[in-house]
Amino acid sequence: MATHTEFQEALLHKLSDSGLRSTPQREVVFKVMLQKRDHPTADEVFARVKSAMPSISLATVYNCLDTLVSCGLIRQVNFERGPTRYCPNLHPHAHFHDLQTGSTHDIDLPPGLIDQVKTILPEGYDASSVEIIFRGKTSFAAASAILPATGQN
Ligand SMILES: [Zn+2]
Repeated sequence: MATHTEFQEALLHKLSDSGLRSTPQREVVFKVMLQKRDHPTADEVFARVKSAMPSISLATVYNCLDTLVSCGLIRQVNFERGPTRYCPNLHPHAHFHDLQTGSTHDIDLPPGLIDQVKTILPEGYDASSVEIIFRGKTSFAAASAILPATGQN
């Protein structure tokens, strides 16, 4: 195994900022979160972690996810009526929830947009967070079909 990777450094720093230490369980849960950025539920994280660490329990996975959220390494995403999902993308972004497939995609936000959105709030309203969620369908196949095969980017 190589020396500490970037993700391990980030994990160690964030955990120690909160007075916590890195554990193999926290490490494997964080690694799984970074590997496939598809906004998994705790159950889905558990299933993925189990292949790397068969002895881990669902309760431990929940605890690790809570710890990572409280350290600011991942964030919770909630869609109404759905289970909590987890997202490792800490940059300001919106979510696009595909109603047909149930998948959730990150959409980058232009700089300053969130601040701009906050300006619509009346006097006395102080938002600590803003979430932008799009709902609809995606059609990547159709979009790529109309692109020239040898286009220049
Ligand atoms: Zn996200």
